[in-house]
Amino acid sequence: MSLRSAYRDISRRIIHRPVGAYDRLILGDEPQIIRLVNGGYEQTVLNDVTGQLITKKLPFYIIRRHWIPSKKRYAICGKAHDLDDSICIGCDQGYKLSVGYVHTVIHLAYYHKVEYTDKDGNVVLRDGRPVLIDRPCEGEECKMCKMKKEKFFGKKLHWTVSARAMDQLEALEDIISGTCMCGTELIIVGYTCPRCGQPVEATKKEAFCAGCKRFVRPKITYKCTGCEKPRPVSIYDIDIAVKKVGSGTDTTISVFPKSPPGPPAGYKGSMEPLDLKSIFRPPIFREQREIYDFHGEINVEGEIEQSEEPTPDPDWLHD
Ligand SMILES: [Zn+2]
Ligand SMILES: [Zn+2]
Ligand SMILES: [Zn+2]
Ligand SMILES: [Zn+2]
Repeated sequence: MSLRSAYRDISRRIIHRPVGAYDRLILGDEPQIIRLVNGGYEQTVLNDVTGQLITKKLPFYIIRRHWIPSKKRYAICGKAHDLDDSICIGCDQGYKLSVGYVHTVIHLAYYHKVEYTDKDGNVVLRDGRPVLIDRPCEGEECKMCKMKKEKFFGKKLHWTVSARAMDQLEALEDIISGTCMCGTELIIVGYTCPRCGQPVEATKKEAFCAGCKRFVRPKITYKCTGCEKPRPVSIYDIDIAVKKVGSGTDTTISVFPKSPPGPPAGYKGSMEPLDLKSIFRPPIFREQREIYDFHGEINVEGEIEQSEEPTPDPDWLHD
């Protein structure tokens, strides 16, 4: 075995960690009950209108990803935004780029802790102990239940959706936000500019502020007859049921409210958002070469930073 192949073997094993391999929410035809977690992810994004970079705290994490047809999977783009001059073989070689919106979610379902096995069926050990992973309970016919594998309710996952699905989540929020957290219907008493505080003529989504001379998302002032502190219900306050609709490029989601506002039903675990910045970190150049099977030259200026730190399972390893 050459040094090169041995090294590659090791580096693959460091990255191919079972931890996190099952941490992605995958939807099917059956509705799944989830709770979205507002992650407060600080991100630098390009403002389409002004062409300027802005750093914002967002409830979700935005990823840029390239589709690799031959591997039927996505790879995280090496560039954080259009103006980023980091190396990306995907961009350089013209792989289709799309944007994904990643949410931390609590999957409100039963899971089991089971031993992780390799492809030959051997239990994988770490420090002499079996590595445990979480698998969803399969209901009445569940083998893991019969084997009395440790069972728990509610698992934190990440969930990547398209812009289309984001529109659907937003549409649901538009409906539920007509109601106050106390359960009373809210009355809108006015719209103001979030930048200068001046009252603006507005719809719920957009207003032109004469003071700032720009379009703003108006701040809405509410009145509630049921309580002193009116606050509209947000999509982060209720459990929702989601499922996949359609197939292929036409796949989207269907989403329904599933609970009144309050903590997620039956879940006792932490609501701490996942570190999506690490989970979806852009691959370094050496990793990009493997991902894209690209061993030619691209115009590289400056040093390429290489990290030997074991990293959380990056999304591009999932198929
Ligand atoms: Zn790219
Ligand atoms: Zn089970
Ligand atoms: Zn203003
Ligand atoms: Zn109220």
